[in-house]
Amino acid sequence: MNCKAPRGTHDIFGINALGMSILEQKSKQIFIKHGFEEVRTPIFEDASLFTRSIGQTTDIVEKEMYVFEDRKGRKLALRPEGTASLVRAYIEHRFDVSYPSGKFFYTGEMFRYERPQAGRYRQFHQIGAEFYGSLSPSADAEIILLACDIFSSVGINQIKVHINSLGCQKCRPLFRASLIKYFSSVSDLCRDCTRRLQTNPLRLLDCKIDVHKFTDVPKMEKFLCQDCKEHFNLTQTLLKSVGCAYTVDPKLVRGLDYYTRTVFEIRSDILGAQDALGAGGRYDNLVKELGGQDTPVVGFALGSERVLIAAKKSGFFDNLNKVEKIFIAIADQELFSTAFAFCVKLTRNGLKGNNNISVFGPVDNKSLTSQLKFADKIGAAKTIVFAKDELEEGKVLVKDMKDKTQSEVLISALL
Ligand code: AMP
Repeated sequence: MNCKAPRGTHDIFGINALGMSILEQKSKQIFIKHGFEEVRTPIFEDASLFTRSIGQTTDIVEKEMYVFEDRKGRKLALRPEGTASLVRAYIEHRFDVSYPSGKFFYTGEMFRYERPQAGRYRQFHQIGAEFYGSLSPSADAEIILLACDIFSSVGINQIKVHINSLGCQKCRPLFRASLIKYFSSVSDLCRDCTRRLQTNPLRLLDCKIDVHKFTDVPKMEKFLCQDCKEHFNLTQTLLKSVGCAYTVDPKLVRGLDYYTRTVFEIRSDILGAQDALGAGGRYDNLVKELGGQDTPVVGFALGSERVLIAAKKSGFFDNLNKVEKIFIAIADQELFSTAFAFCVKLTRNGLKGNNNISVFGPVDNKSLTSQLKFADKIGAAKTIVFAKDELEEGKVLVKDMKDKTQSEVLISALL
């Protein structure tokens, strides 16, 4: 039997699991302040949902989805991202009719068959939000600022916000045509670029292989229609009004087809090659394309693992409240049940003056030496030893495991 987790997946425990929970809690608090409600959707969906929304010629749909058939031959896929599922749920529950300006958030596992490396996994976690029903640039700015607030809530303050506008159905076709014309004049395009030239020319803009060949690429800003231009300008004015620094990045296109107008990515230098903490943008046609009422949406998703790597490097984990581990030992076997009862009281009520503890022990049928070794192994700060003589006086021995000192303490002073 293979006892290893599948390639690209990882087990999360200890401080990393704690960090993940704290990130989720802090995000939830921020979402709630902004009026977002939580939604939990299934981990798998009809595969066609993703093909239709994310786009046939995107990396995710072309080569990264985990697709499988169930026993009835239905073609299902593990969700590679959260937006499509949320839009499906929004339409299915008729929120497009009854709740057109909904604000929703989600947290959960996503699955992509990518080449694993630091910060890139096949099963990873995202936290995301979608703001339905607003065409206003204030929704775009709110979503970007909300993402920044989540990063700063876990100590990540050195971030770079990159934004761009991809225009709308009216102006983007002109840009697209101009890109096809430009890229067709470039010789020796890589295999992916050659393949995508006609179907998805925007994706060539962020090709890592051919990037140096594209010296004078047409820029979307020249093609934006008046409405899109005003929308992009006002989004920037709003970001500036609250001191949010950003860079307009004409090469930012994002890997998913559904975006219109604003796209953004938030990066951190401390992450190395996989430097995107989170990303998002506006998708004004997606609800309609998936069968709902015409409803504009703007949203984002952050990658929890990457955020936690950056948080760790920013020192956030050093500041996490450290729980004091306390081990309960017995010098005499017959004191096992007394020590057990003490343990229960300690876990229920805490140590006098310190509620931030975790309690270990007692263990039976082990010598005191091996109990103390175990206490050291788990990193106990204190060991409380139950021994007959001391107990007769209502006392226990409290050992400080670091400086190896010990003192007799009244039980009544501990509980
Ligand atoms: P996307 O859904 O592609 O827009 O990605 C949003 C965010 O999810 C990215 O900025 C990353 O932080 C994170 N992310 C995307 N793919 C992966 C992956 N394979 N492993 C870990 N994090 C990822």
